[in-house]
Amino acid sequence: MKQEYDIVVVGAGPAGSMAARFAAEQGVSVLVLEKDRDVGYPVRCGEAISKEGVAEFITPDEKWITARISKFAMIAPDGTEAVIELPGEGYILERRIFDYELAKSAAAAGAEYITRAYVNGLIIEDDTVKGVKYQFRGADKEVRAKIVIAADGVESRVGRWAGLKTHIDFRDMECCTQATVSGVKLNTDTCYFYFGENVAPSGYFWVFPKGEGIANVGLGVSGAIGKKRSAQSFLNTFMEQHYPNASVLTCIAGGVPCSPTLDKITGKGIMLVGDAARQVNPLSGGGIASGMIGGKLAGITAGEAIKKGNLNHIHEYEKRWHDRLGRRHETFNRIKEGIYNFKDEKFNAIAHSFNKVPYEKRSLGNLFTTALINQPSLLIDVAKVFLVK
Ligand SMILES: Cc1cc2nc3c(=O)[nH]c(=O)nc-3n(C[C@H](O)[C@H](O)[C@H](O)COP(=O)(O)OP(=O)(O)OC[C@H]3O[C@@H](n4cnc5c(N)ncnc54)[C@H](O)[C@@H]3O)c2cc1C
Repeated sequence: MKQEYDIVVVGAGPAGSMAARFAAEQGVSVLVLEKDRDVGYPVRCGEAISKEGVAEFITPDEKWITARISKFAMIAPDGTEAVIELPGEGYILERRIFDYELAKSAAAAGAEYITRAYVNGLIIEDDTVKGVKYQFRGADKEVRAKIVIAADGVESRVGRWAGLKTHIDFRDMECCTQATVSGVKLNTDTCYFYFGENVAPSGYFWVFPKGEGIANVGLGVSGAIGKKRSAQSFLNTFMEQHYPNASVLTCIAGGVPCSPTLDKITGKGIMLVGDAARQVNPLSGGGIASGMIGGKLAGITAGEAIKKGNLNHIHEYEKRWHDRLGRRHETFNRIKEGIYNFKDEKFNAIAHSFNKVPYEKRSLGNLFTTALINQPSLLIDVAKVFLVK
């Protein structure tokens, strides 16, 4: 290990590994520091992603695909189920393998990894980030870098240490909880989304199959709801009602920042990516694909900055992110705010409208034309988020 690298990445999630890979591919030196013992574990994720979201980064592989998704089922509060064929394929991942494979691809490009390296501070000189402080095997260490990329996830502190405003309103922080369960009956090609006051107010409840008889069952509710009734309590009720005999294999809880991207995701010597930059799709809560995109753009831009010898070039990353996804996320955030106010009757009406179209004739076009008789234009945007991307 060297004393100084061109780029140090904090966090080896999808965003961090893609930042590392795309920077290393340009021939600059990259070190990734990960606090956990294993890359990819523990997993805090529903593990759903579109094929398109994966394919830009890694060739789809059965090793980490647990289910191939071709249908979307919306379950309204009155129990009406509306099923639609997806225009493209989706996957339910095994993220502990997926994240590991992403890290392997970054290491193959030349990035060095150290796990069990807990970053606990920054080296700041002349108002500029010049490296990180970390603990490794009980010892305090430092490593210098021309650029630090913070990919330290939803609980990120690196951006704050660098002086960036990382605050997020508690209402935009979705409180999520999920159980991976076995012994459940469901179609392994369908993702199920439940809506309504009693299942997941200001959010949604998901059941994502992970192969025969196994599923990720979870929900997210706005922080404003979570303060009054915990996400876990909604999950318990759902499990009692739907899967009373299922075995719970794992349980997780975590926050998902469902807000537009932070105003500033670069500073002097620092770049933020993934959840740390709030690059999650604020409507769906999906952050794997968008985090990888953020990581890629940051890695490319950081590599260019080093090669040009012009560290100010890193600010170009903000524009690239906003052009690619940031502005789109602002729209999604407005839609989310509209949907948060939907009453149960509205979800019921949407499902009833869906079901007026015979299954074999269902396409996104005619489905939504019919649904729109009852619903405002929001619905098309909702469809784009859940079904197209
Ligand atoms: C319950 C739940 C369900 C979800 N379901 C989905 C889904 O179905 N689909 C989807 O697309 N997204 C989903 N998400 C969101 C998704 O998991 C995240 O958006 C995604 O993991 C973000 O990637 P990242 O690389 O930014 O951060 P992370 O994957 O969180 O990685 C951050 C890494 O940084 C490390 N780290 C943190 N602090 C330090 C430190 N000080 N020093 C060193 N290392 C550090 C962490 O250990 C971690 O490995 C879900 C989230 C939750 C909580």
